[in-house]
Amino acid sequence: MEDNFLWEQIQGHDREISLLQGVIDKGRLAHAYLFYGPRGVGKSKTAHAFASTLNCAQACGTCISCRGVQARTHPDFIYIEPQGAQGILLDQIKTLIKRVKLKAHAGNYRVIIIDEAHKLLPEAANALLKTLEEPPERVVFILVAHDMSRVLSTISSRCQRVRFGALGNEVARDILIKDHKVSKDKAELAVALSGGIIGEALEMAASGLLNVRNDMAGVLLSKTPSTARSAALAAKLVAVAKKQTLKVKKTQDAELAEALSMVEGSKSISGFKRDLAARHHRERARLEQQCFRQSLALVASIYRDTLVIRENGDDKFLANSDLIMELKDAEITRSAMRSALADISLAKQHLERNVSPLLAFENLFFSLEAVV
Ligand SMILES: [Zn+2]
Repeated sequence: MEDNFLWEQIQGHDREISLLQGVIDKGRLAHAYLFYGPRGVGKSKTAHAFASTLNCAQACGTCISCRGVQARTHPDFIYIEPQGAQGILLDQIKTLIKRVKLKAHAGNYRVIIIDEAHKLLPEAANALLKTLEEPPERVVFILVAHDMSRVLSTISSRCQRVRFGALGNEVARDILIKDHKVSKDKAELAVALSGGIIGEALEMAASGLLNVRNDMAGVLLSKTPSTARSAALAAKLVAVAKKQTLKVKKTQDAELAEALSMVEGSKSISGFKRDLAARHHRERARLEQQCFRQSLALVASIYRDTLVIRENGDDKFLANSDLIMELKDAEITRSAMRSALADISLAKQHLERNVSPLLAFENLFFSLEAVV
């Protein structure tokens, strides 16, 4: 068991971490926090570490309490996120308020994370105000938001605010290389394509998507179209997304098994199972969409790089700098480029609307090959 293990997993937020640890050490815990700052820099991860520490001072990451918080199955830990496209619903908040009033297990803190709190619908936000201001004893709220313009001031004024800064591309790249053993080329590409959003860059590097990049460049930059090659590329991209979601499914199944053992004998077990299954499904769907978005970003980056080269831009602006010879060699006309960008955005719409991903990618590459 390692002390502060969970805190050590968080990169680039030393100031925020020492502030939060100080609060706990000095016993100056507020009853509501609002973590805000750019998307994907580790706010939610920090919120989970903070939540764990409240019930395991060592933040060890391995005890049943820490694991329960990380898996969001701890009986005294409540995790709220938007359900579906609308946002966080009034019903979710009503259920939350009822649960908050129940007594926590002996000596425990009851911790509530509200993720994407900027998506609280107005009636849900209003219903939350009173509890947020005067929660029962030993209840701590952590709201997490990346769009402060959408957080009602009545909400934010009731919270202790903690600002999270962006990670620079260099920090993000170093984290990938040093902590996650990603190769330098891949790390640079992943960070460039994810705008320095470390969570996405990591998932991209781990997904195997970047291994398909050379095939992709082969299709996009080739002067001789090949339907078979395009179809094979489409299949590979779909397989990457599938592999990612299967990997997550395994973790989720383990989570479910552990969660069920924790709530054994409870009356609400079937509702609990249903909610967890629904959440797992949402997580996988989101991950799959992210994979598709990244695939398209990769396609776009190859076209953008040919443009940078043609406009005599600096090599350091290339996302695929290791492919510079191939990029220089490609002859993509301005009109081909325009129609390629239109094709990419059409594919994006298709993928978001649940058109068969294989079909969407095949269509994309067939038409991209046709215009070069
Ligand atoms: Zn622990």
